[in-house]
Amino acid sequence: MNLVWFRNDLRVHAHRPLQQALCADGPVSAVYFLCEKQWESHQVAPLRRWYVLHSLLELGEQLAALGVPLDVVDAATFEAVPSLLTRQVRDKEVRQIFCSREYPLNERRRDEAVASAMAELGVTISGVDDGVLVPPRALRTGKGTPYTVFGAYKRRWDAWLDTHFEAPALVDVEGVSHPTDFPGRAAVERALGRLQVSPSLTEQWRPGEQSAREQLDRFVSHQLARYQKQRDFPALSATSGLSAALSAGTLSVASCYQAAREAMADAGAREGAACWIGELAWRDFYRQIIAQFPRLSYGGAFRRETEWLQWRDDDDLFDAWCEGRTGYPLVDAAMRQLVATGWMHNRLRMVTAMFLSKHLWLDWRRGEAFFMTHLIDGDIAANNGGWQWSASSGTDAVPYFRVFNPIRQSQRFDPQGEFIARWVPELKHLDNKTIHEPWKQPLLAGEYPAPIVPHQGVREAVTEAFKNAKKMY
Ligand code: FAD
Repeated sequence: MNLVWFRNDLRVHAHRPLQQALCADGPVSAVYFLCEKQWESHQVAPLRRWYVLHSLLELGEQLAALGVPLDVVDAATFEAVPSLLTRQVRDKEVRQIFCSREYPLNERRRDEAVASAMAELGVTISGVDDGVLVPPRALRTGKGTPYTVFGAYKRRWDAWLDTHFEAPALVDVEGVSHPTDFPGRAAVERALGRLQVSPSLTEQWRPGEQSAREQLDRFVSHQLARYQKQRDFPALSATSGLSAALSAGTLSVASCYQAAREAMADAGAREGAACWIGELAWRDFYRQIIAQFPRLSYGGAFRRETEWLQWRDDDDLFDAWCEGRTGYPLVDAAMRQLVATGWMHNRLRMVTAMFLSKHLWLDWRRGEAFFMTHLIDGDIAANNGGWQWSASSGTDAVPYFRVFNPIRQSQRFDPQGEFIARWVPELKHLDNKTIHEPWKQPLLAGEYPAPIVPHQGVREAVTEAFKNAKKMY
């Protein structure tokens, strides 16, 4: 028996481990370990769990149509996985396991424990780097070290893909003569029964591979050409909205890359497609960073000197940020979008993260955790990478003097104040100048807060604090 072990790769198409298993001798079955306590400790948002569980329901049916039964095993934590997998292997007489590699520390520890358990049983594990376009250790600098600057990484990344990229394979469900059943369905339904998540959140999302593939098609046909020009404006739906699908693996990053490369044949879409491919490169970049700097998986700063920064400890400021009550309209609109939808636009993730870590001078780890507990696309590599970049403790080539002015960002990227008006309705009567700085307009008392901290002086204070941290290091 060949066993496919599904993790964050909940699809049948463009799935190399499944493809390999289907091509190997003998029957194929599949397993997914449900680790709800692990989700708890990794602060996985209820909305994301819902997305994963519903995607599993679709995956189980798709696999059944392919003649592959999917078992869903309650494991609670990663520690339980080696012994539960051993049981599966014995019961099903498994000779070979196929899976996609994962890079955060706890996932790697799980996989190492599994590898030694399987070695004792004489079972082979074939792991492939299917969750990235370029394997994390494929690109090294001239000194043999990992790339830590995106620009240089991206040049090598493009060149590597020019020679190595292979179009991913779609599975032919039609050709299967022996469909089977989906034994894991009941376990997924029980987990859904235990989950508490507001319908107002879930009704905005469509889980599963089918809808992810349709969304990719729609994005490539209708929006990709304008992506570069429009992607920074949160009032427009100009980005793909595929991050949930990419992080749960209901869509393969190789399918995205292939679609964008094909779109480049059309001169009108070339710029947009190239720009979007750049975002897929950021995704790979942070995955190779988390793979090669394990301390990031347990709260460590990428730039070690920043461990000396003395963050402010102020719950009132933190609560105001979480609840969208900072008095800075764009920051507040973004935070309200996150809580109400489980997603936030990329520009606003940078604006809000920088505001928390530079203006409020609160530890970026608090913001990182808050994002994880709300994001449908919560992904440790991208989230940690984005947070550390914004807090200047990360891989940014420009050091700590990068401080976004939240008013300027608002005027530039939401010039008509449309996005603000959508999420901060108490400001919607203001004109497109005042809406960015409502304190210039006498508001009704209590209608909207005054800025909780001034913008003036932030850059100087941040520069000073980083200089001192460097001296301490
Ligand atoms: P598009 O613009 O359509 O981009 C396509 C895909 O590329 C995305 O779906 C995503 O998979 C990838 N991508 C885009 N930008 C980045 C980036 N900067 N870093 C890594 N991958 C990227 N992305 C997550 O998937 N999960 C997270 O938990 C996450 N947390 C973030 C936290 C902060 C503070 C910041 C600044 C960024 C974070 N990002 C995260 C990256 C980015 O904001 C989202 O991927 C993007 O907003 C998702 O929207 P989209 O699918 O429409 O993106």
